[in-house]
Amino acid sequence: MIETDSNFEQLNSLMTFLLKKDIYKNRIIEACPNCNGKKYIRYGAYKGIQRYKCKECSKTFSNSTNSLWSYSKKNSPKWIQFIELVIERKSLRFCAEKLEISLVTAFYWRHKVLNGLNFDSIPEKLTNNVFISKKLIPENFKGSRNIMTDKRHNIWVIAAKSSNDSMIAKPISKIHWNLNSFNKKIYYLIDKKAYITTYCDRYLSAVAAKHNKKREYQVFDDKRIKTFPNILNLWLKKYHGVATKYLENYLSLFILFIINRKIDSISISNQLITGNRYIRTNEIGLTLE
Ligand SMILES: [Zn+2]
Repeated sequence: MIETDSNFEQLNSLMTFLLKKDIYKNRIIEACPNCNGKKYIRYGAYKGIQRYKCKECSKTFSNSTNSLWSYSKKNSPKWIQFIELVIERKSLRFCAEKLEISLVTAFYWRHKVLNGLNFDSIPEKLTNNVFISKKLIPENFKGSRNIMTDKRHNIWVIAAKSSNDSMIAKPISKIHWNLNSFNKKIYYLIDKKAYITTYCDRYLSAVAAKHNKKREYQVFDDKRIKTFPNILNLWLKKYHGVATKYLENYLSLFILFIINRKIDSISISNQLITGNRYIRTNEIGLTLE
């Protein structure tokens, strides 16, 4: 007897299985996620995904352990569609309806994706001509409970971009300029031989003057960093305010928009899914209100 599958249920579950298997096939496990031990052996496979056993702590793990979607019961085509929707900057409500997931799931997924991007967004070095700008963003307590204060301090966001289109943007301090934090989060990435051009800030121009000391004065311009404060402002508006504690993650997505490189959801999905970017939902730690 032939069983029909007019709703393609079997096909869909097979597709999910194949896609998942394929996604994790090339994932490189560097160490045991439990004890960080480097000695482990192959230990069979479950649903097509390779398993391992650690020789040091005896725990088993697999090619999908600690990946972005570990333990997610939803099917993998949905994750990739979801990443596409994050890149298209659709609202959570839109994502939830379109993919038939709950609003809460959409909320956590967005943070998983942004958190994963944040992991990937740090360039190796900023070389040649480096452009730096700042934007002050008022603190935002969206989603936080028990906020006793009405005071909104400014958060200093610094963006630095090299002429070959590597870029970083990070919140560095609250209220005041903080050179120490700037050095730790941004300046260490700037090549000693680079020439720095800054916009609209006296602290930044002091940094540039010191750095460029032995170099001849040059005139360079970068339109995107020059207009960074305005572009970021417009970009953030679409989210109707971003909670300060997540600002850094949103900035990682922002960078993808501002740089010239061609990026698509499939390559981003691949990067995100095969990396070690698992975060527990309780680490996201926010409730929808
Ligand atoms: Zn181990």
